[in-house]
Amino acid sequence: ITIYVPCDAGALSVGAEAVATAITAEASRRGIDVHLKRNGSRGLYWLEPLVEVETSAGRVAYGPVSADDVSALFDADFLHGGKHPLAHGPTSEIDYLKNQQRLTCARVGVVDPRSLDDYLAHGGYRGLAAALGMAGPSIVQVVLDSGLRGRGGAAFPAGIKWKTCLDTPSTQKYVVCNADEGDSGTFADRMIIEGDPFVLIEGMTIAGLAVGATRGYIYLRVEYPHAQRAMEAAIAAAQAAGYLGDDVRGSGKAFHLEVRMGGGAYICGEETSLLESLEGKRGQVRFKPPVPAVQGLFGKPTVMNNVVTLATVPLILEHGAAYYRDYGIGKSRGTLPIQLAGNLKRPGLVECAFGLSLRELIEHYGGGAASGRPVRAVQVGGPLGAYIPAAQLDTPVDYEAIAAIGGMLGHGGVVVFDDTVDMAAQARYAMTFCAIESCGKCTPCRIGSVRGVEVIDRMLTGDAVERERNEVLLRDLCQTMVAGSLCALGGMTPFPVLSALDHFHEDFTDHVGKAA
Ligand code: SF4
Repeated sequence: ITIYVPCDAGALSVGAEAVATAITAEASRRGIDVHLKRNGSRGLYWLEPLVEVETSAGRVAYGPVSADDVSALFDADFLHGGKHPLAHGPTSEIDYLKNQQRLTCARVGVVDPRSLDDYLAHGGYRGLAAALGMAGPSIVQVVLDSGLRGRGGAAFPAGIKWKTCLDTPSTQKYVVCNADEGDSGTFADRMIIEGDPFVLIEGMTIAGLAVGATRGYIYLRVEYPHAQRAMEAAIAAAQAAGYLGDDVRGSGKAFHLEVRMGGGAYICGEETSLLESLEGKRGQVRFKPPVPAVQGLFGKPTVMNNVVTLATVPLILEHGAAYYRDYGIGKSRGTLPIQLAGNLKRPGLVECAFGLSLRELIEHYGGGAASGRPVRAVQVGGPLGAYIPAAQLDTPVDYEAIAAIGGMLGHGGVVVFDDTVDMAAQARYAMTFCAIESCGKCTPCRIGSVRGVEVIDRMLTGDAVERERNEVLLRDLCQTMVAGSLCALGGMTPFPVLSALDHFHEDFTDHVGKAA
């Protein structure tokens, strides 16, 4: 009998290791032969640790399981899908999962991330097999035709980056994966690396074949030690099986891959700072042009995409551009792994085609606020994303639609706040975050964010005249930061600040006595 207990960092943080140990001990005490398999997380985080049992009717789920529940689960015959208060029936029939369109994350939580055989048994490396039979420009064309846009935040068409790199002659090119997932409330990159690391290797290898790059680097955030171990083990296994190295699967084409750990700076998620850091320098933003596709790592043409983008490439090569493009709406094609976090009953990963509304996400999937109170604000797109008021929750998940209401979809993180949130404090936090994380290269960001905190403090402590005077100053400062900052950190910090001012103005005017 096979039992699955996740080894995903999220599941481990709530006791998955103790559950695995308890299951092994209890099975041995009862003389039952069980095969414990460690999978990634299904992304149903409120049910972690989610234990699954392979039965004749498929995998059935129990959760959240603690080590203390294990004996009772055996008593309830959970090894054969027995009834128990923690039982959720067949995993694939759980509402939260059933209605998703899991393409990029199809194998996450399903396979053993340490097993190349498991990856192959679940359709792995079919995209590479297709790519090996194609010329580089044809691979690039498929990615262009699929409509895939960068999932890291900027939503720039991946195929255009690839084509620029392909068209830039050089004796050496690189593929760099941005795995510096630093946005608040985001975890899709980590889940993919911990749950299905081979898909990232496959995607990067295809990118290398497409543009003529023979070397790749995964720049991983230092806060992800489990992901580092999963990734390095997968690279070693792929190398041993001939999927990486001087002669990828006998094709005569080389692709080498290494993991490099970041140092913990938010700005190193910005592509040019990341390149500086990868080259061993201080992570500071570079001027553009030249773009990295022309002059990137060590001055060479470099394709840089984030984890979700590169992990989506294999399925596009396997099934064709139209298969992927047929999902989604408008210019937002395919699916997006959305990460639900904050004050929600059911936080987790929801991969759906673009087009569902924020309200569906928060109410249908998320189950509303965990506190049971009304949802008041939603921050979409990380710490630089605008605060969207409850009245605008019918906006669809679509890059252009979210931009039209002054927001940004970013990396797909959705953080929910109930009606107890203090939006003036959130605005102040945005400026504080920018002051701490600024790389210091340009004045509007480096100095502006510090002045921003001071101006907000004066708004919150002064009388009505002082508040009004400082609001004018704050709006002016935000305008300067948007217009004069070199990168998105300084250029977008005003988004959460201005959205808080515009949609939740009362929190600034009623703030006397609550000041930061
Ligand atoms: Fe650095 Fe801020 Fe300027 Fe970006 S906006 S380059 S983070 S100082």
